[in-house]
Formats: sequence, C-alpha cells, structure tokens
Amino acid sequence: MILDERPKSRKEDLFDRDEELGLLLKAIRDGKPLILLTGIRRIGKTSVFQVALNEWGGSSVVLDCRKLKENYGRKDLYSLLSGALSRTEKIRDLLSKVQGVSVVGNYVELKWGGERYVSLADLFDHLNERKVIVAIDEAQKLRGPLSSEVKDAIAHAYDYDRNVTFLLTGSEVGLLREFLGVDDEGSPLFGRHYVEVELSRFTREKSEEMLRKGFAEVGAEEGGVGELVDAFDGIPGWLVFAGLRYVQGKPIEEVKDLASKLALNEMRGLSRREREVLKCIGKGRKGWKAMKECVEEMERSTVSTSVLDRALRNLEKMSLVRDYSFLDPVYEEASKR
Ligand code: ADP
Repeated sequence: MILDERPKSRKEDLFDRDEELGLLLKAIRDGKPLILLTGIRRIGKTSVFQVALNEWGGSSVVLDCRKLKENYGRKDLYSLLSGALSRTEKIRDLLSKVQGVSVVGNYVELKWGGERYVSLADLFDHLNERKVIVAIDEAQKLRGPLSSEVKDAIAHAYDYDRNVTFLLTGSEVGLLREFLGVDDEGSPLFGRHYVEVELSRFTREKSEEMLRKGFAEVGAEEGGVGELVDAFDGIPGWLVFAGLRYVQGKPIEEVKDLASKLALNEMRGLSRREREVLKCIGKGRKGWKAMKECVEEMERSTVSTSVLDRALRNLEKMSLVRDYSFLDPVYEEASKR
C-alpha cells in the first residue's frame, strides 16, 4: 500500500523506481564491493534498498545508523551490529564459533572491548564465508571518533572479502562522501571504485500518479492530488505523509503546517548561523554578497567570510541547499517560521 509511512520492503508496494532498483540489483549480483544509494531525506532510499535486498533474496546485515549518537563509541556501534547480525539465522550460525562472539538463542553478542574482542575487519572476514550484503543506512552518521577504524575495516573487506558487498545510503550526501574519503588521499578508501545510484524526485506526472494510486487503494476521491503535489513536490516521503493525512480528513493547510513543524524539528541540530543562512535563502537572497548582508543584518555585526562559507558549505553537504536554493520545499517553508 502506497499510503503507508513505513519504508516499503515489498516490490508491489513501491511506486516506480524500476530503473534504480535494476541498477542496484545488477551491482549486487555482479558482486560490486561498494555501492552508494544517495538522495535527499524522504526520497525513498530505505524503501528502495529494502526492496532490492528482498528481491535479491540472499543474506544481509542491515545497520540503521540513525540510531547512533554523534560521538558514538565502540560499545554503541557493536550493540547496533549485534542487533543487525542477530536477525538472520544463517549469519548467527556463521558467527557461532568466532572468538569474541557469543550466540545465545537468537542473539549475537559481540565483545566490544578487552583482549578477545572481535575487530570489525575480522568480523567482515567471517561474514565473507557466504555472500552477504552489509547495508548501512545513513552511513554518514558513522563519522566520529571511530571513523578511521570503520573505514579501515571496509577497505580491508574491499580488498580481501570478495563475498561481502557494502551498500551505503546517505541523505547528507556531501557528508557521506567526506566520511568515505574516496577523493581524499589520506583515506583508506581513496580512489576505490564504487557504484552510485542516485534517487531523484518524481516528476509532476509521476507524483500525481503515485498519489492517485495511493488514494485509489484506500478508496478515496482524487480531489486534492494537484494541490498536494504543489506543496510537496516530487518527494515521495512527503507525498505519503501528506496524502495519508489528507485522506483521513485533514485540510491541506493543516497538513502543510504539520510537515513544516516536523522539518523545523529536524533542523534543531543546526547551528544558529546555519539557521540564519537558511532563513536568508528562504527570503530569496541569492549569491554571496546578498547572503553576507542578510546574515550580518540578522546578527547586527560583521560576519567573517570563512565562518559564513563554512555554514553554507555545511548546509550543502547536508543536502539541504544547493546554489542558494532549498532542495526540499517543506524545509523552505519551515525556515520562514
Ligand atoms: P529515505 O530513506 O530516503 O529517507 P524512505 O524510504 O524512508 O526514504 O521513504 C520515506 C517515505 O516515503 C516512507 O513512508 C516510504 O514508504 C515512502 N516512499 C518512498 N519512496 C516510495 C515509493 N517509490 N513508493 C511508495 N512509497 C515510497
């Protein structure tokens, strides 16, 4: 069903995306070591990779890095990994005799410290005994104190573990690239080839078709589809969010307000200056000079070029803006609140 807010995992629930799904499945079947699935928040990355893993049908380990706090430690990472490894019986069996791992019932417990803890690289070597996909959702969240350890282990598996494929998704595309460091000479993953599948927003026609299909599935009238697409563009996550509430009887204005509050909440982690830059972009200020003037007006003092540049670049790396424009109309509305 389209109007279901959870990420889709069955192909019949996924609207369109045949091309991207095909590319992903081909890369998986070809045994590519590193695959990136990129696109802004709510564009459908989790859904597309879950459907791809289901269609592929083999063993996978899925890590949802949204659950990691900013300065996560090894204990946090290993506990996330333990949960992910526990979900598949074949993987539990594979790890049952590995030092530093104990499998109790359906739970895989990884030692994360002391003498006999299992390193990430060793863990990947063990997984390599069968073909396995390690899918890391929102992988840019792995940045932090353990960044090098994680990248070293992925680079090791890239070189030695032919059966292991890493499938990484990221909403904050610049941060994901920065984390991987494929363009950074100092990174263990420097220069490694990877396959990238990018999810773009749907065209107006596709967006309307998706909503009409979703409405029909729940027996709702088609009215409102055009207006919803006007407000939420071709971002499927927002279309599902809004469509669902609309068919439940909420007026569009109320749904827009709710969405914008949600976006505002998601912007809480931004710095004051980043939020000011977003406000200025929301006011339509384009170009460096106009931006600097606007932020200085807000702060009632001069702002150094480097500080402003950093704020702007961070927002770009987080895939919130590009060329002084928002990538998501809901965030744009939220910036005006
Ligand atoms: P992301 O991982 O990019 O943030 P999700 O896969 O979590 O996006 O999708 C966000 C929401 O949009 C979910 O409710 C999901 O069900 C819906 N969705 C995304 N893409 C599609 C699609 N192609 N067909 C149907 N629903 C979709």
